[in-house]
Amino acid sequence: MWFTPRYDWGMLLDQRQRPLRDLRISVTDRCNFRCSYCMPKEVFNKDYAYLPHDHLLSFEEITRLARVFIEHGVQKIRLTGGEPLLRKNIEVLIEMLAKLSTLDGKPLDITLTTNGSLLKKKAQSLANSGLRRVTVSLDGLDDAIFKRMNDVDFPVSDVLEGIAAAQAAGLGQQAPIKINMVVKRGVNDDQIVPMAQHFKGTGIVLRFIEYMDVGSTNGWRMDEVVPSQDVIARIHAQMPLVALAPSAHGETAQRWAYADGSGEIGVISSVTQAFCADCNRARLSTEGRLFLCLFATQGQDLRALLRGTQSDADISAALQKIWHARDDHYSEQRANGQAPKIIQLKRVEMSYIGG
Ligand code: SAM
Ligand code: SF4
Ligand code: SF4
Repeated sequence: MWFTPRYDWGMLLDQRQRPLRDLRISVTDRCNFRCSYCMPKEVFNKDYAYLPHDHLLSFEEITRLARVFIEHGVQKIRLTGGEPLLRKNIEVLIEMLAKLSTLDGKPLDITLTTNGSLLKKKAQSLANSGLRRVTVSLDGLDDAIFKRMNDVDFPVSDVLEGIAAAQAAGLGQQAPIKINMVVKRGVNDDQIVPMAQHFKGTGIVLRFIEYMDVGSTNGWRMDEVVPSQDVIARIHAQMPLVALAPSAHGETAQRWAYADGSGEIGVISSVTQAFCADCNRARLSTEGRLFLCLFATQGQDLRALLRGTQSDADISAALQKIWHARDDHYSEQRANGQAPKIIQLKRVEMSYIGG
């Protein structure tokens, strides 16, 4: 079927005039944690059907797709999962991606989100393979609270050692290391201020994420969401903050600086302040399905194209058509009370498409 994709200064635009800039690639659907908000133990148990190995995209397939995405404007790739450091030889994939450049000739910005459990062991090899920055998830400093959240008894100290190893390996040199903390009311919201105090003045940027209704297994309730506004108010009461301008277009975090100049924090208000209008990210699942929104129910099967007879030009044309047709804006719809009902039943899990 004939269609005319819209371009703006060379950028492919979707139905809401949003370019394609950011690609998140899930490299495994497995994880060694069972965070209750993501992979609750009762569902992700020994009977859970994880993807068989031959369903996973190979490193060659991922790199081939990355090239095609770059042709359409992607500048940043985030490796995620599941727990990306569980994917065997992930360093080899990073090495392959690190050789790619963006359309304007800059090195591709490659980053990775990890629960930090294997970082102590792997930080140096990740840096050697070409990784320049990293985001580590950590939901609190109190061991009992953190263990309850990861639900596998994993101690805070090991994640902190992983963060220190990342710093020592230089993963915070080009851009600060980021820490993601998902806040759940009554579970870890008393960790907001201690976490802020701990990372203040370290050069590490702590970001507070509103607990989201992603997937259909975490039993999400609105009353467990702590609005970012409250997070900021709680920190500001003890350590005064000033608002900062966004550093990049389409940035999801609102940035705040400590008034005494000792660094910054961010809040990601996915629930209380939808940022769909600037959402420039696509998500590739472990088995090569392309999702245009975190709350999508269907993904487009790119693996079938990779493993079929299609040329790179064919895959490129398919991607152009998919992005051009994109109209997703779930968080805006949720905010307006118009979230499609079907989504309540069939949402894809965060551990499958990557956060
Ligand atoms: N396992 C890695 C980790 O935890 O960093 C990478 C994958 S994880 C799905 C990516 C990010 O999604 C993490 O920072 C995690 O805290 C966040 N996340 C998972 N479920 C969430 C939810 N229901 N609401 C908000 N953030 C969530
Ligand atoms: Fe695993 Fe990350 Fe999900 Fe926690 S948030 S269960 S660490 S994938
Ligand atoms: Fe992007 Fe979907 Fe999130 Fe909106 S709800 S910001 S379109 S991922």
